[in-house]
Amino acid sequence: MADPTSPTSRPAAAPAAAGDLPQSRHLATELPGPRSRALMDRKTSAVASGVGTTVPVFAVRAGGGVVEDVDGNRLVDLGSGIAVTTVGASHPAVVAAVQEQVAAFTHTCFMVTPYEPYVAVAEKLNEVTPGDHAKKTALFSSGAEAVENAVKIARHATGRDAVVVFDHAYHGRTNLTMAMTAKAMPYKSGFGPFAGEVYRAPTSYPFRDPQGMTGEQAAQRAVRVIEAQVGADQVACVVIEPVQGEGGFIEPAPGFLPALAAWCRENGALFVADEVQTGVARTGDWFACDHEGVVPDLVVVAKGVAGGMPLSAVTGRAELVDAVHTGGLGGTYGGNPVACAAALAALEAVETDGLLQRARDVEVLVKGRLHALAERDPRVGDVRGRGAMLAVELVGEDGTTPAPALAAGVAAAAKAQGVIVLTCGTAGNVLRFLPPLSISDELLHDAFDVLDAAFAATSASTR
Ligand SMILES: *Cc1c(COP(=O)(O)O)cnc(C)c1O
Repeated sequence: MADPTSPTSRPAAAPAAAGDLPQSRHLATELPGPRSRALMDRKTSAVASGVGTTVPVFAVRAGGGVVEDVDGNRLVDLGSGIAVTTVGASHPAVVAAVQEQVAAFTHTCFMVTPYEPYVAVAEKLNEVTPGDHAKKTALFSSGAEAVENAVKIARHATGRDAVVVFDHAYHGRTNLTMAMTAKAMPYKSGFGPFAGEVYRAPTSYPFRDPQGMTGEQAAQRAVRVIEAQVGADQVACVVIEPVQGEGGFIEPAPGFLPALAAWCRENGALFVADEVQTGVARTGDWFACDHEGVVPDLVVVAKGVAGGMPLSAVTGRAELVDAVHTGGLGGTYGGNPVACAAALAALEAVETDGLLQRARDVEVLVKGRLHALAERDPRVGDVRGRGAMLAVELVGEDGTTPAPALAAGVAAAAKAQGVIVLTCGTAGNVLRFLPPLSISDELLHDAFDVLDAAFAATSASTR
């Protein structure tokens, strides 16, 4: 291995393949270890400090449910690189597909000389996204880029300008998607002015809404805001995460999404599902909208779709997507052939590996652990989520005041013991669990044993 303390050292030529990575947690050094600390010094000198890192260890291999670092530590992965490596970080079929494609060609640009894998990914997404109407797909590279393109399509198809988003929404970090994202710090503060014609409505948040409020009532509350403050005939699209991600893994009350989709239909606005985090088996269905049979006009897909390679998509009703003139959509890298090859393998793995069922099994195991924890520990105010997208919201003694310091303390204690756990929520008081579906039950139990101990060790004073 190259000496990480030397600023001129290069990464080791070829790290070992992840196929034989032992599937167990292992602490060879304190965390972070000496090599990671040396690399972090170089990062601090060389990398923009605006780019933060959650876990200060440098990875060399990842696969199954484990991330191995430069010091030989093996961490249990409850983050999947933020819901990306759903099929696993080194799925053998994805590795083989990437190797084959990269040896044939890395890029021609689909807008110059097209290639079959792009078309095949479009066909597959047209098939697996909700609804059996005629669909078309365009490919991009990042989630934010796809969200922007969904808005472009919606505006072009409707001839309207207004975009409705929700409290606690997260849609990305580009100028338009910053405007659509709710949380100021760290996503928006100091980065304005933001794109116009973006309006925010209240979401359905069962843990914090008035007791007994139904999904339909929460939708009416949102519709009242939209009709009064935007005007129904001005709305190009309503963009919503069917389970909110960065905003706190907020699952709306049943009936909320169907009622909003119905309002869109009646008022000529497009219902756009941002399934960047929820899509492709993460919630135990192909898409989170499937849970209530909601059929969006446009679906935005990214994160989990390509086994870790950068790829995103907008899939939707053919006549809406095709409202845009030729040349109006695209990008140099959109639908890169290596990323498309990875996506074809990952999408196939969802079926061959039985990952929809695996996500549901993960939900049963993890929710069992989390409900048991909540029973013992009143600081766990809410247990929620679906499939392998689960969370606990942490609160103070009154049972409602957000407890972000507690969330940070528990996450830090878990990370020190080699479990990668992420926080989220507008108030930063939610611990979220997004394991790769390639993780074993044994590793999940080990990780939640560590988490239980982290809760016990983190004092009430960090509420
Ligand atoms: C991560 C995320 C995005 C942005 O995706 P990037 O690839 O980071 O641009 C958009 N929407 C949702 C719901 C996300 O979780």
